[in-house]
Amino acid sequence: MVTFLAGGTGTPKLLAGAGDVFPPERTTVVANTGDDIELGGHLVCPDLDTVLFLDGGELDRETWWGIADDSDATHDELHRLADAADLPTGPQYLPEDIQTAGRDIARHRRFSGVAEFMYIGDRDRAVHVTRTSLLDAGHSLTEVTRRLADAFGLERTLLPMSDDPVATMIHTPRGPMHFQEWWVGRNGVPAVEDVEFRGGDRATASDSVLQALADPVVVGPSNPVTSLGPMLAVEGIREALAETPVVAVSPFVGDRVFSGPATALMAGVGRDPSTAGVADAYPFADAFVLDSDDETALDRPVVRTDTTLDTEADSDRVARAVADALGEVT
Ligand code: GDP
Repeated sequence: MVTFLAGGTGTPKLLAGAGDVFPPERTTVVANTGDDIELGGHLVCPDLDTVLFLDGGELDRETWWGIADDSDATHDELHRLADAADLPTGPQYLPEDIQTAGRDIARHRRFSGVAEFMYIGDRDRAVHVTRTSLLDAGHSLTEVTRRLADAFGLERTLLPMSDDPVATMIHTPRGPMHFQEWWVGRNGVPAVEDVEFRGGDRATASDSVLQALADPVVVGPSNPVTSLGPMLAVEGIREALAETPVVAVSPFVGDRVFSGPATALMAGVGRDPSTAGVADAYPFADAFVLDSDDETALDRPVVRTDTTLDTEADSDRVARAVADALGEVT
């Protein structure tokens, strides 16, 4: 068995065509939940859902989130209602005292559904309604994810990083805001002064995650700050990674990022926005897979290949490099 740690883009792109090298039934994916928010009363788990939809054959591969060709009737109606009633639009936190009330897993990340600031398709929304209803009936996020994985026919085991709430907050000159407000609501424009994983000090890894981390681990080319950072804040995960063989794939080529806000976030937490900075952030990684054009010298074994992940053939090539790197450290 091999365990992958995943955010919502880089690692799912690697998984997309990795099946010949890492057979799905022998693969576990632990997904970041720091990006999750409660929107209009429903818990949305973007990174879990990208893997759910990818493996279920439903993912929109243009965006790497949501269900392909989903309809938007409810989203459009939410905006029509807000318009007609002259209600505010944009990301709206529920009041401060509500942030710590009620459903524990939504702490510090509760947003109004009025004119929802994040696009949710109709079929996608059905997943959030089902998930939230099962959570409210007393099931853990791990159990709920297993049921959803069954519904989507997953062969891989998919686990949330924790059953406890961890909210990724971006500190900016405009004040702290949840990652989704910063990235989706404000296009990542406010300067990053720091990143906080609120709740991380009280979150623990589930038994399923700890078991999965006893196997060799692949840290896919995900964002080290907002996809791996929340996991490393959860009690037990960093310790488990130190004990097991870990191979990390860089989301950078030198100091060039493939996509997304990794550069601003790395700089914001005082790390070099580059492969060298990633290696510093991952002291538990025993080997790295870097791009052939990446000249970074590291103090650990490196396997080089073209790390572009646009097609399933690309994923297969990078997966073979990961397997080679694992071979060097197991
Ligand atoms: P998020 O949850 O959507 O932020 O996604 P992740 O954290 O899983 O992935 C974001 C990272 O994926 C970015 O830092 C990108 O550099 C990286 N990424 C995107 N496309 C590619 C690719 O084709 N190859 C590699 N190596 N990394 C990629």
